[in-house]
Amino acid sequence: MPEGDALYRFARRVGEALEGRVIIGARAHGPGPVPQVHRLVGAICKRVASRGKNLLIEFDNGLLLRGHLRMYGTWHVYRPGERWSRPGAEARLVLETAESVVVNFSAPVIEMLETRALAVHAPVAKLGPDLLSDDFDPVEALRRLREPLRAEMTIGDAIMDQQVMAGVGNIWKHEALFRCGLYPWTRVRELDDATLLEVIETAQHLLRASVGKVNRWGLVRRPSMYVYQRAGQPCQRCGTTLQSRRQGIDIRFTTWCPRCQPAPAGYGRSGAVMHRPLRPRGTPQG
Ligand SMILES: [Zn+2]
Repeated sequence: MPEGDALYRFARRVGEALEGRVIIGARAHGPGPVPQVHRLVGAICKRVASRGKNLLIEFDNGLLLRGHLRMYGTWHVYRPGERWSRPGAEARLVLETAESVVVNFSAPVIEMLETRALAVHAPVAKLGPDLLSDDFDPVEALRRLREPLRAEMTIGDAIMDQQVMAGVGNIWKHEALFRCGLYPWTRVRELDDATLLEVIETAQHLLRASVGKVNRWGLVRRPSMYVYQRAGQPCQRCGTTLQSRRQGIDIRFTTWCPRCQPAPAGYGRSGAVMHRPLRPRGTPQG
């Protein structure tokens, strides 16, 4: 699933194609509700931005498009007449300017609303602070993590909760917890504020490095993957075999190093299972 850093790159690419330009063609296709995008023809695109895992495209006629990719969606930019690299039947949205064709493929959410309604539009209004925003507030993210409904959540699930902070998905969950030496099933209530702030800031700096923003380590290159999709391989720090088991409501596998990320007292092995090693993948979609 594309995470905040991938959406940031999509926003940059789509923004280069659309910002300041007149929309000369707009089409949307199902499945699902089809927004009346013909209302965008003749409008000028004012701004394209990511907010967590959402892409927001704002127009000068007071309308705004929101796209959310979930697992399989993606944004492509083509020149007029250029052959698309995915089937036209998968296109959910097509926006044309004189110089470019922006296509969204397979996003389950493409919706149009009035820009002024964004502040009260739940999927965006409820988001926690955006990790890639230059005014990201880690203390506000901590306050949200400390809300009573999250006390019993595992830290692995809690940092992916977009209402805590917007932008972390499965990849950066893995990598932030490894760097902080945290067992992914540790309950939020068992972690002190300093540790939670360390997790929040580590996630922020991983995402910043991923999109080429300077972070506290001075890095602008994409961070290494220590645990994500490395189940069954030796830990690059200590050599221990990385383990994996299901976590969370979508029960995807979480991989961790039992030595670098030891379970706190009382957690035991709780049925941890070895997972068949996965073929390491290159850089995530983005
Ligand atoms: Zn290790």
